[in-house]
Amino acid sequence: MSIQYLGFLLLLLQGVLACDHGPLAAGRRSLKQAAPNVPPAERREVYSNGRLFDITHRVSPTLPTWDSAQGLGPFLTLVASIKNGSNVNVAQIKLVGHTGTHIDAPGHFYQEYYDAGYDIDSLDLDVLNGPALLVDVPRTSNITAEVMKSLQIPKGTRRVLFRTLNTDRHLMFQKEFDTSFVAFKADGAKWLVENTDIKFVGLDYLSVATYDDGGSSHLTFLKNRDIILVEGLKLDNIEAGLYDVHCLPMRLLGADGSPARCILLK
Ligand SMILES: [Zn+2]
Repeated sequence: MSIQYLGFLLLLLQGVLACDHGPLAAGRRSLKQAAPNVPPAERREVYSNGRLFDITHRVSPTLPTWDSAQGLGPFLTLVASIKNGSNVNVAQIKLVGHTGTHIDAPGHFYQEYYDAGYDIDSLDLDVLNGPALLVDVPRTSNITAEVMKSLQIPKGTRRVLFRTLNTDRHLMFQKEFDTSFVAFKADGAKWLVENTDIKFVGLDYLSVATYDDGGSSHLTFLKNRDIILVEGLKLDNIEAGLYDVHCLPMRLLGADGSPARCILLK
């Protein structure tokens, strides 16, 4: 081994130490005053001693999106970054309004409502927050009028989260969009509008209507501009029953849909 080669090896070693845990690295870090050992962040689904459930799906590149086999893909870039010499990290996000756990406004399906301003900003926060029933839909069926009848949802119930086979199949955790998801059939939507007091309709995949619905269920739900549709909810590992729901979309002027953070409180 030549002296030059030995010197090269030493340089390499110093490089490794400088960007890892060696004394050189410690010296560099003190300039930035960063904590030497930062424990990895904890990511949770349940808070407050089992009283508060996060029913929002995490927005990540593998989140399924409508009609795509690839999932959401990259949605966030750092337009400023400490690694590249900036004082701060600044993320820029780019998302379709109907990404992951999200809310549909009346303007999503009606041009005249969109023109009149029935966007996400105009939604009634009173509907999106308050007592809610989490119910299990029979796993053998879409949500038809027959199924709606069988659920026997008490009169006066304003908010219902419908848990279906989609949750059992973990569809929202699979990157590839699955057209076989369970949702409302046209007669189920019509029955709900005509026979219940439900104004918050929550479902556990990317649409409240089946893939072959052709828009008729959305048109039925949104026609009176008093029902709010919450899609893509994460309802795993929560007992059916009565909760308080809190669902808050971003206040986006002109948006027909928006991702939302939704929680259930026991
Ligand atoms: Zn939507």
